[in-house]
Amino acid sequence: MLKLYNTLTQTIEDFEPVQRNKVSMYVCGPTVYGDIHLGNARPVIFFDVVKRYLSYLGYEVLFVSNITDVDDKIIDKAKEMKVDEKVITKEYTKRFIEIMDALGSVNPDIMPKATEYVPHMVEYIQDLIEKGYAYARPSGVYFRVNKVESYGILSKQNIEELSQGVRITLDEEKEDPKDFSIWKNTTDGMHFESPWGLGRPGWHTECAVMNHEIFGSEIDIHGGGTDLKFPHHENEMAQTIVHDHHHLAKYWMHVGRLDINNEKMSKSVGNIILVKDLIQCYEPKAFRLLMVGHHYRQQIGYTDDLMVQFAKEYDKIKRSLKKAFLGISLSKTMTLEIDDKEIERFKSLMNDDFNTPNVITQIYDLLKQMNKEKEFGRLAVLYQTVKVILEILGIMPYYELTDDTLSVYRAWEQARTDKDYQRADLLRAQLSKRGWM
Ligand SMILES: [Zn+2]
Repeated sequence: MLKLYNTLTQTIEDFEPVQRNKVSMYVCGPTVYGDIHLGNARPVIFFDVVKRYLSYLGYEVLFVSNITDVDDKIIDKAKEMKVDEKVITKEYTKRFIEIMDALGSVNPDIMPKATEYVPHMVEYIQDLIEKGYAYARPSGVYFRVNKVESYGILSKQNIEELSQGVRITLDEEKEDPKDFSIWKNTTDGMHFESPWGLGRPGWHTECAVMNHEIFGSEIDIHGGGTDLKFPHHENEMAQTIVHDHHHLAKYWMHVGRLDINNEKMSKSVGNIILVKDLIQCYEPKAFRLLMVGHHYRQQIGYTDDLMVQFAKEYDKIKRSLKKAFLGISLSKTMTLEIDDKEIERFKSLMNDDFNTPNVITQIYDLLKQMNKEKEFGRLAVLYQTVKVILEILGIMPYYELTDDTLSVYRAWEQARTDKDYQRADLLRAQLSKRGWM
């Protein structure tokens, strides 16, 4: 049985979805005003593996990941570029999807845009006001944190410490410094009509409402980067607790940070690496191997050396697979049969809170067996087993072996048997050029 770490309970729990055989999963998506960096890519890759694995286990998975297309940062960027905000959001949504594809992550089933749900958000906020959980002020609408007894339950924040920690600045309109904005009255940038004036919804409300609208009830998995735990997820949950009387999700999963040379990636430090730049130099799947080579809750200390190491590892995996594939193709022993024992071993590792680093160790183990295997039937089974596992991790290399390449290979073998070394060398060069030597 699959067990996973639930941030909400801080324990490893058996995974029992709300509905048998079905899994609903929501992962907070990007605010589309810039290209994504390596840290942003981590949840994009991890939750793709989660989706693939759950589907492999036979669950019908509905995977939703939103696009935040209304935000101060988008407005600033639009002003800077002297274009409409929609030009910015359209461009960076497109780029985000291109990067997701390049990283081999399957697109979520639904990618709702926040701006498409504004009328629902207005209605939701109205509800919160009527029930006494929110209040309107000239600057906008605020959520009454003190009315939620369990506030802090997700991020394990002490509510008293929190009040002391909050700086009381321009918030004199709030009843309490902890209260958060769920609607901001403004005409600066994109804005919408509401009973409280022209303005736009708060980010925490956007995700809560999209969950409410798309799923209609408690979902199974709500995920994101660990930096979203507070305040974003805590506030999403607080609204859902009072509005819908559940915790939004049964399981809350958070992916660890990715630091560069042991420093947090940030604009001020100037150490941001964009995915689009990285994949100019390295194969996207090699980066993906680096990601799954670390446990998802573990912090990754990214360095160039680490990337080089994983690129080499990925190359090794690819070479072993191609060598085996060639042997199986020549001997015509290709099969769909898998090694059940090895698949069970894989499943027990994945069921252990997605222990992908140990899966990678298993893969090396299988490749070692493959490299030594002389019997083609057995080699074909091992190959197929590795392929199934790599496909779930999204790191199966792509290659094609044409009939023409196969006949060149046979001719090369023949030339060697005939001791026609000159011809053998020529054929060998051809195979090498095609990447099969
Ligand atoms: Zn969210």
